[in-house]
Amino acid sequence: MKKPRGIFIAGNWKMNHGVKETRQFFEQFRRLYDSSSSHLQARLADHSLKAALFAPYLSISAAQGEAHGMPIHIGAQNAHWEKSGAFTGEISGAMLLEHGIKSVLVGHSERRQYFAETDETVRKKTESLIEQGLEVILCIGETRAEREAGQTEAVLLRQLSAVFQSAQSPAVRSLGCGLVLAYEPVWAIGTGLTASPEQAEEAHQIIRRFLSEKLSPEAAEMTVILYGGSVTPQNVTALLQCPNVDGGLVGGASLKPESYIALLHGAVELLPHP
Ligand code: PEP
Repeated sequence: MKKPRGIFIAGNWKMNHGVKETRQFFEQFRRLYDSSSSHLQARLADHSLKAALFAPYLSISAAQGEAHGMPIHIGAQNAHWEKSGAFTGEISGAMLLEHGIKSVLVGHSERRQYFAETDETVRKKTESLIEQGLEVILCIGETRAEREAGQTEAVLLRQLSAVFQSAQSPAVRSLGCGLVLAYEPVWAIGTGLTASPEQAEEAHQIIRRFLSEKLSPEAAEMTVILYGGSVTPQNVTALLQCPNVDGGLVGGASLKPESYIALLHGAVELLPHP
């Protein structure tokens, strides 16, 4: 099957896995990786399949050390837009870069819901972190009430417009390289309720159409758009078969090595054997 942008499987560990559990995860993951198919190892090595785990800050060093020699990227779950200053409890993009971290989640619905992040703070983070050279995985998505009120498209367009304010914005310039979008319907996150492939594809088409109309068809074509919301090894293939779904942002099913590698196996089967 043709996946012109490859496939990206990103695991969001949220506030799970301290240092000890991180080591245990990778000890088992390495065994599974070493005995996995040559197709999986080759597609990870040539980056047509990209794998990343977004670990809690304190577990990042352990994850980087343990993942050494395997093509698994380690990312962070959040960062402030300022490079330094009086922002107690925050971590800057500059600090992540100094630590060898090149990817960061921005605007996850749990950050919007529990930590008062707004479209405006999400825009500031996206622009600043991209300007600093980080890859940003920008999360957007509607709540259950918004979907039931028929507002899914309006919510997605509002969240996108907040970030892509002008053709000169850093977000626009980095489409296709430093910016990945993640459609995460809030009602599907951690609930076991997955969007159907049709619902996911419809939302991804809305996002790609926005990028095409607001920016350019080329930018829209290049942009990786992930689906997130109760992705499991059982449903990953059906979701990835949607033409506009380029990967998954996965919470619960990324916490266990056997289920994370099962997601990678499900994904790689959709990529051609050379
Ligand atoms: C997430 O953390 O972004 C997520 C989609 O979680 P889950 O896969 O557990 O629904």
